[in-house]
Parts: sequence; structure tokens; C-alpha cells
Amino acid sequence: MIDVITKTPKECIELGEKISRNLKPGDIISLEGDLGAGKTTFVKGILKGLNYKHSVTSPTFTLVNEYIADTKVIHIDFYRENSKKRWDIIGLNEYLYSNNIVILEWGNIVKELLPHNMIYIYMEHIGLNKRRVYSKYEFFSN
Ligand code: ADP
Ligand code: MG
Repeated sequence: MIDVITKTPKECIELGEKISRNLKPGDIISLEGDLGAGKTTFVKGILKGLNYKHSVTSPTFTLVNEYIADTKVIHIDFYRENSKKRWDIIGLNEYLYSNNIVILEWGNIVKELLPHNMIYIYMEHIGLNKRRVYSKYEFFSN
């Protein structure tokens, strides 16, 4: 379980880095939180932790970004596309069940397309630069 408050984007990135070490191929992570909560910033941290050296951008318009890091990471953003048919055509299931690390933003708007056993991480905007990050998932259990 985690429940922390980060006070800068850098702290958010460091948290993502820390958590990345406990992720494994096949994990599907759903980042839950409003616009500006820090979801994409957190993904930058995960990729940094997986030794990805290049720039990481939001998939808001591309919908799906793939990164060849220590483990391949698929980053999907559902914000601008809520059509089930379109996601079928894009090949959502191939991405989800690809044995990579898959990270989702705005999964709540296409809930019926997603598995139930995802790792949920909640992010809340609580002040200018303060963000609460919490999850019931045991990232550091071993
Ligand atoms: P989302 O993907 O949830 O819409 P982003 O990560 O794209 O959010 O944007 C978060 C914005 O808030 C960025 O501009 C980031 O620099 C800023 N920010 C300020 N403080 C924090 C913090 N503690 N954690 C994450 N982002 C922060
Ligand atoms: Mg985002």
C-alpha cells in the first residue's frame, strides 16, 4: 500500500522510478485522477526507472505510445477516444494482453473494455504543486 504526498514534479518522478522496480511484464496499471493530477509525470518516472533515456510524451493525441525500455512499456490514453469499435480496430486487446507493462490514463471512460485485476493508482490534485498518490496494491511486499 502507498499513500504519499509529492510536493514537486521531481518527487512524483522519483516515486514512479521507485515503483517501476516492482513492476513486471503483464502488469496493467490504471492511473486514476483528473487532468493535471500528475499521471503522465508519473509515467515519466516509471520509464526513467526502467532506464528509458529519451523523451516521454502524453499519448493524448497519439492514443498509444510504446517505449522500448528494460521492459517494454505501452502507455495508453483513453481521454479523446471512447468508441469501443475504434479501440477494437486499434487492437486494444493485443496491447493489454501483450506481456509488457501497460499503463492507462482515463481507463474509467472505457471500463467495460478493461480487465478487473488491474493495479489501480489514484492521484489527487490537492494544492498548487501538491499531489496525493495512493494505492492499495502491495508494491513493496517482498
Ligand atoms: P495528467 O497526466 O494527470 O493530466 P500531467 O502529469 O500531464 O498530469 O501534468 C501534471 C502537471 O502538474 C505538470 O505540469 C507537472 O509539472 C505539474 N506538477 C506540479 N506539482 C506536481 C506534483 N507534485 N506531481 C506531479 N505533477 C506536478
Ligand atoms: Mg496525462
